[in-house]
Amino acid sequence: MGGYGSGGHNKTHSQLENFHRIDSFSFYDFLMADKYLYCKTTVQYPLNRGDIVYHVQSKTALIKVLGVQGSECRYVDLPLSRVPGIDGKSVRMYFHCPYCGRRVRYLYDCHKHYACRKCARLNYASQQKSGMDEMRLKMERIVEKELGYTWWYRDNPDTLIQDLWHVPKPPYMRWEKYDRLLQEFPAASKGL
Ligand SMILES: [Zn+2]
Repeated sequence: MGGYGSGGHNKTHSQLENFHRIDSFSFYDFLMADKYLYCKTTVQYPLNRGDIVYHVQSKTALIKVLGVQGSECRYVDLPLSRVPGIDGKSVRMYFHCPYCGRRVRYLYDCHKHYACRKCARLNYASQQKSGMDEMRLKMERIVEKELGYTWWYRDNPDTLIQDLWHVPKPPYMRWEKYDRLLQEFPAASKGL
């Protein structure tokens, strides 16, 4: 695969990911890495704008969303599922979307709400004229029309277009054109 998909490009990818979404597996690893977990009442897992507040005794969680400019914080229930691994010992933790209840690994930061990909998309659709949506449409145009990567979502389920980090070069396309389009792509994502 060479240049793209290795080294520096991956770094950008994980930064974008961290910024845009929360990962239930990382959250679980964070809890398990805390050797004093069972001495604590609550644990805070920092988010982009707030925290997940985990209650150790009841094993429940809330999302605390920071208020804007001194307004009150908001708390949203964050239901958790623990799914045993096939070895019978390991556990995988999943979130449930606070809006539709679907069990998911990722929740996306969508206008100060954390929602599953589907609910986040509905929210985007209702904001057709916002700059954010225009950026997303521009990125979809580059990926789907110009680069012909119409199956990007199938290859990257649970991923928003701005988190997409590898777009294969169409065999018929010249490298110069491919590189130029890829340069447009992260430029668009910076607007998000
Ligand atoms: Zn949802």
